[in-house]
Amino acid sequence: MTPPALVPTPPVPGSPSLQDDPWEMALRQFHIAGDHLALKRGIREYLGHPQRELTVHFPVVMDDGTVRVFTGYRILHSTVLGPTKGGIRFAPQVRPSEVRALAMWMTWKCALNHLPYGGAKGGVACDPGRLSRAELERLTRRFATELSILIGPQSDIPAPDVGTNDQIMAWMMDTYSMQRGHSVPSVVTGKPVGIGGSAGRQEATGRGVMIVARRVARDRGIPFAGSRVVVQGFGNVGATAARLMHAEGCVIVGLSDVYGGIANPRGLDPAVVARYAKETGRMAGFPEATTVSNAELLELPCEFLIPAAIEGQITRENAPRIHARVIVEGANGPTTPEADVILGERGILVVPDVLANAGGVIVSYFEWVQDLQSYFWSEQEINAHLERLLVQSYEKVAALSRDRKVSLRTGALIFAVRRVAEALLTRGIYP
Ligand code: NAD
Repeated sequence: MTPPALVPTPPVPGSPSLQDDPWEMALRQFHIAGDHLALKRGIREYLGHPQRELTVHFPVVMDDGTVRVFTGYRILHSTVLGPTKGGIRFAPQVRPSEVRALAMWMTWKCALNHLPYGGAKGGVACDPGRLSRAELERLTRRFATELSILIGPQSDIPAPDVGTNDQIMAWMMDTYSMQRGHSVPSVVTGKPVGIGGSAGRQEATGRGVMIVARRVARDRGIPFAGSRVVVQGFGNVGATAARLMHAEGCVIVGLSDVYGGIANPRGLDPAVVARYAKETGRMAGFPEATTVSNAELLELPCEFLIPAAIEGQITRENAPRIHARVIVEGANGPTTPEADVILGERGILVVPDVLANAGGVIVSYFEWVQDLQSYFWSEQEINAHLERLLVQSYEKVAALSRDRKVSLRTGALIFAVRRVAEALLTRGIYP
C-alpha cells in the first residue's frame, strides 16, 4: 500500500490564518447558539469547557541517531453522547487552542448528525513532510502509546486529519493492539481496508462535500453541472471534492495547496493537476493555468467556494471580496464569526463545517460499527447510507434556519447544542 504523500507545510506568506484564535471562534459560535436556546448558565459554562486535556512531550530517535522531543495533545470536549471521536493532526501550527476548538466542533458535528459520540481532537506539532517514513512511524507509535490512557474502542477513537493518513492510523491501531496482545481494529477509523477499514472512508469527507453542494444547488436553483468551483487545499478532502464535482460536470476554476494556487476560468481537470503536483511536489506552475496566491484564490468569482485546508481563512478582511454564491466548508472552522456576518449581509450562503464535512465522521462511524460486528458492507451501501444521513441533516438544518431566520451555521449549532444539553440534563450532573 502506498500512503498519500504527506507534504511539508511551511508558513504561507499573506495567509490570514493566524488572525483569529480558533478556540475564541468556537466559543463565540457556541454562545450565539446558547443565546438562541436561552441555555442556563451552568450548562453553558460546562459545555464551554473541554472535559479532559492531555499534553505529552515525548522523545523520538531520528534517523541520524539524535533524539528530538515532540509535543502532542489529545483533548476530549464532551463524553455526554458517547465515546469521543475526532482526528489526529500532524502540522507545525498544532497548539492547544486549535485542538480545543476542533474538539468542540466534533461534539456539535456528531450531535447534529445523530452519531453516538462526543467530540475530541489531537495533534502533534511537527512537519510530517520533513520526517522520513521510519521517523514518522516511530513518532506515531510513541504518540499512540502516550495516548493509550485515553484512547480505546469504547472511550476515544481517533481518525486521520491534516497531515495524517490511513498508514498512520494503521500504525496507531497496531501499536494499541500490540500492547493489548490482540488485534483491536475498532480503536481507530480511517484505516486501510485490508486491516478493518471501511470501503468509501478515504473519500467520504470529499464525497459528503459534493453531496451537500449538489443538494444546495437544487434548493437555490443553481444548475450544478456547469457551476464554477474553487477549492482551497488539495489533500484528502479538497482533492476528492474537486474530483467528484468535476465528474458531476462542475467547472473547477481554481485549486490550491499550501504553496499557492492555480486558476483557469475555462476549467482544470483535478486528475491532471494531481499528476502534475505529484511529479513536481506542488501545483503552482501548472502549465495550463495562472498562478495565484492562496489569498487571491479565495476571491475568484465562482458559484461554489470550498475552503478545504485549515481554519481561519475567510476573515473580516477578505469577506467583502469573496465572489462566491455559496461557501461549502470542507475544512473545520475556515470562516471567522466576523466574516460570517459580512457574508450573510452580502447574501452569500455558508454551509457550515459541522454539516458540510460530516461525511468523514459519518463513514468513520460506519467503520467502527463494522469493526465491532466484524461484518463489512459494500461501498455502494456505505455511499447510499452516507447520502441519506447527510441530506437528512441538511434538510433539518435548512428548515430550522428558515423558521428561526438564522444562518445555516447558527441553525446547525442550535440543533446540536440542544441535543447535547438535553442529554446532559437527562443524565444529570455526577455525583
Ligand atoms: P490533508 O493534509 O490531506 O490536506 C490539506 C491540504 O491543505 C493540503 O493540500 C495542504 O497543502 C493544504 N494546506 C495546508 N495548510 C495550508 C495553508 N496554511 N494554506 C493553504 N493550504 C494549506 O488534510 P485533510 O484531511 O484534507 O483536511 C483538510 C481540512 O478538512 C481540515 O480542516 C480538516 O480538519 C478537515 N476535515 C478533514 C476530514 C478528513 O476526513 N480528513 C474530515 C472532516 C474535516
